[in-house]
Amino acid sequence: MRKNIIITGASRGIGAETARLFAQNGCNVIINYNKSEAEAIKLREEIIQKGGVAEIFKADVLKREEVDSMIEFCISQFGGIDILVNNAGIAKYGLFMDITEKDWDETININLKGVFNCSQSVIGHMINRKEGKIINIASIWGMVGSSCEVAYSVSKAGVIGLTKALAKELGPSNIQVNCVAPGAINTDMNVNFSKEEMKDFIDATPLMRLGKPIEIAEVVLFLAEKADFITGQIISPNGGYVI
Ligand code: NAP
Repeated sequence: MRKNIIITGASRGIGAETARLFAQNGCNVIINYNKSEAEAIKLREEIIQKGGVAEIFKADVLKREEVDSMIEFCISQFGGIDILVNNAGIAKYGLFMDITEKDWDETININLKGVFNCSQSVIGHMINRKEGKIINIASIWGMVGSSCEVAYSVSKAGVIGLTKALAKELGPSNIQVNCVAPGAINTDMNVNFSKEEMKDFIDATPLMRLGKPIEIAEVVLFLAEKADFITGQIISPNGGYVI
């Protein structure tokens, strides 16, 4: 499929793997990044070397004018936008009693308001074309809650609610809005957990391991490619941690 896709937070982790997979599948990819410019440049070079098409674009998903510029860049570069993957996110760990207002705001803003900014910015374009796919990356913690990650859980529960409500609003315009809610995936996001904490998590996972970024990217690809009658759904690749 020669589709145009924007993936937020594609400089590292799940977003980077999703960019690789869509490029391999013939899509034109915008690799969005905020801080990790070197990683984004390297990923673009890797994709191009393998015969794919990719551009990088720096935009903080919190800043609406930067997001709007990214949407305009994709349209001018590739002629349109077929798929938006709202993947950019951060996680902060600590007791609820200790969360500062700054950390609370930062977590909710990047993880949830970022999805609002990018989605609202792209929707006019998709409505005009009467097609489009928005795929949001939430988390199992938005489904079942995580101790010591209350702000993160709230932000991801918000992404799940946004997915369901927006799917109803945009269905008549032939725009599918879905959500992927991963379990623990082996990326930088989990580097601050101790070996014991990760072992506890693995022991509680029926498939007895962490997920790989590619296993999330494959679900995103399915939703983008094969799922025209699926909207408002939460698909959770989590190794059986939540059943
Ligand atoms: P990661 O390796 O830490 O990567 C996070 C990505 O988000 C980076 O590319 C980062 O870009 C980007 N980002 C952060 N703040 C941004 C901002 N303000 N504007 C634009 N980009 C921003 O994390 P990951 O594990 O791949 O996580 C990707 C998504 O999956 C997140 O939404 C996360 O909550 C979700 N998730 C992850 C797990 C897991 O266990 N890893 C589980 C469930 C859900 P820069 O470095 O360029 O700033």
